[in-house]
Amino acid sequence: MTKRLGVLTSGGDAPGMNAALRAVVRAALDRGAEIYAIYEGYRGMIAGGDQIRPMTWNSVGGILQRGGTVIGTARCPDFQTRDGRKQAVRNLLEREIDGLVVIGGDGSLTGANLLRQEWAELVAELVDEGAVSADLAERHRALSIAGLVGSIDNDMYGTDMTIGADTALHRITDAVDAITSTAASHQRAFVVEVMGRRCGYLAVMSAIATGAEWVLIPESPPDFEHEDWQARMCEVLRSGLKMGRRDNIVIVAEGAQDRHGNPITSEYVRQALEDGLGEDVRITVLGHVQRGGSPTAYDRILSTIMGVEAVDAVLSADPATDSLMIGIQNNKVVRLPLMECVKKTLEINAAIKSGDYDKAMQLRGRSFRTAFEILRTLTRAAPHAPTPGQKRLRIGVMNASGPAPGMNAAVRAAVRLAADRGHVLLGIRRGFRGLINDDLFEFEWMGVNGWAPMGGSELGTSRKVPDGKDYYAVARTLEEHRIDALVIVGGWSGYEAALRLYQERDNYPAFNIPIICIPASINNNLPGAQHSIGADTALNSITEVVDKIKQSAVASNRCFVVEVMGRYCGYLALMSAIATGAERVYLHEEGVRLADLQQDIQQLIKGFNHGKRLGLLIRSEGANPLYTTQFLAALFEEESGDLFNVRISVLGHLQQGGDPAPFDRILAVRLAARAVERLEEWHAEQPDEAPIVCMGYQHGELTFTPIDEAMRMTDPVYHRPKKQWWMDLRPVARMLAQPDPSIDGVEDEPAVQPL
Ligand code: ADP
Repeated sequence: MTKRLGVLTSGGDAPGMNAALRAVVRAALDRGAEIYAIYEGYRGMIAGGDQIRPMTWNSVGGILQRGGTVIGTARCPDFQTRDGRKQAVRNLLEREIDGLVVIGGDGSLTGANLLRQEWAELVAELVDEGAVSADLAERHRALSIAGLVGSIDNDMYGTDMTIGADTALHRITDAVDAITSTAASHQRAFVVEVMGRRCGYLAVMSAIATGAEWVLIPESPPDFEHEDWQARMCEVLRSGLKMGRRDNIVIVAEGAQDRHGNPITSEYVRQALEDGLGEDVRITVLGHVQRGGSPTAYDRILSTIMGVEAVDAVLSADPATDSLMIGIQNNKVVRLPLMECVKKTLEINAAIKSGDYDKAMQLRGRSFRTAFEILRTLTRAAPHAPTPGQKRLRIGVMNASGPAPGMNAAVRAAVRLAADRGHVLLGIRRGFRGLINDDLFEFEWMGVNGWAPMGGSELGTSRKVPDGKDYYAVARTLEEHRIDALVIVGGWSGYEAALRLYQERDNYPAFNIPIICIPASINNNLPGAQHSIGADTALNSITEVVDKIKQSAVASNRCFVVEVMGRYCGYLALMSAIATGAERVYLHEEGVRLADLQQDIQQLIKGFNHGKRLGLLIRSEGANPLYTTQFLAALFEEESGDLFNVRISVLGHLQQGGDPAPFDRILAVRLAARAVERLEEWHAEQPDEAPIVCMGYQHGELTFTPIDEAMRMTDPVYHRPKKQWWMDLRPVARMLAQPDPSIDGVEDEPAVQPL
């Protein structure tokens, strides 16, 4: 018989749960299973009746962008009792449901696992009691489970991110940015309390993203040998003010504690600051706004791909083995043993409780530890004195190519981290134009103050790629300023320029210095990096605008063709299509054929004939030179007759602007920090030929790819990597975007005869 699955959301709500629900329902139907939503978490499972309802393709329409969970969530003490669970089993059996996708935190997932373990026993008891027939029991001898972690705290072991954490980070970052501006106006200190239960993720990441001055987290209490931490904190804040900073922000995680396990409350911190600084200090407790609101693009995409994987896992799982948890590791969706992840998560909590902070930090993982270390340097108000005898490197830093949100955060981090190690940072204005025209200056520590949240490029940027007589000018500038190394934070033209310098080394020995390209481009089309700085911000800007466009379209039976940037790279188009639920996306990588367009028109007509109220097609700007956005719109308009009308929206430069998303700021800081370290390492190694490399994260590792090799991995005509990881997400996008497969059998009368 057809497999029947149930899906529920349980425990604390998290933005992205609806996206997960939508993906679970549609993937189940696509795979030929039936699916029921269990309302109000385990409470609905125990209540039964209309709390467990069959779902159709369209029952999850229009929920992708909504915060919270449309099927409700609850905490249910009854489910902790055996009797409660027995009633739940009865309700599931009666509907012949023997597979579950549970979206919740560690508590909810533990409950699900318990249900799976007890299933056979409880079923047997129900048969004995005459509550269910032996036949029915025989057909459903086991329950399979897949868990999706919905938690804004990002506190689950085994997965790099949980559903809702990115959105919460956005809310916090926006709030702290806002507080910073009022704090700076009044020269005031603020204590901001963020959520996270026993996990410092939100606190650490928001502090990096906003450039906060001090942070307190549960996993690593403040610890200074010769003084109490309060005095040290006040000292750092005071010296910052002396150096000219006007605002002081301290971020306190709700579970923060000191070495002895005493809670560090925000009120305690406020008092300590008032005593130490002798001025008014305000507290902002962010509270539930962190949970609320529309999910970010990342949360929608993450929830979507994990939801599809959960269904495939449940359908293929052997219920006799462990329950599965779906997670993401190094940018790849993975299936993990659920209970092991829960066990390790509880171990972290226990370690914090018992004061074993080293273990807690160890279990949180390398990436968290590195982020915390970087933060400690960044928050220092003034640089360390240089170590005697250590060579002070003179490092040039510039932006190149189009502006990408997060460029300033990268430059700020490079300046601060390099200065802290005693090096001199030279800011080069307007990319290679600055090197050609000798337009540079020496950065001071405070020169980058407040840069973390700023969009655009304070240094200025340009697409200038040196050529001909420019080489001589560049070489002269490098020599005159005794530049030992270059850091280029930028996109395609920056990479091209670096390649040219590499190729011209024999003619210009001045070019024989280490050069690091840090990927910064909204297009995400750079070699040697899966993510470039700025792309996440652009994706969120597109997603927000398309949400609005969709609302306007619904109101008037309209189909929109939305054109997004990316040149020949379809990253922004595909990812925004997944994040907004577009029915079709046109990419240069796939090409656009007339036969496809014909099919698209037919599908749109079929959809609108079946009550569809809006259509959304996303076209990457370089998808096809002849089948332009205008052409597509005209074609669809003409073919649709009176059924719907078609409008165009070319999003344009808003995609390059805006305050950088937290992900972009954090990526910027991580890359810049490692770049500075690498330059030092090279300086110590003194290789014959100085390396020119492109850096970036690939499959979770920070890599340095030599520029010539990187360029060989790149399509020379279309300026994008030959292999692009996100292309693997196309089947998921296509599956979810299809019209309700159950109406396939219906013969449609097209409004007008299609092509
Ligand atoms: P979260 O899932 O967000 O961690 P909770 O810990 O409150 O939230 O769990 C949500 C619900 O999951 C609980 O109200 C209860 O119904 C169920 N649950 C939690 N822990 C267990 C457990 N150990 N055994 C059975 N059910 C549990």
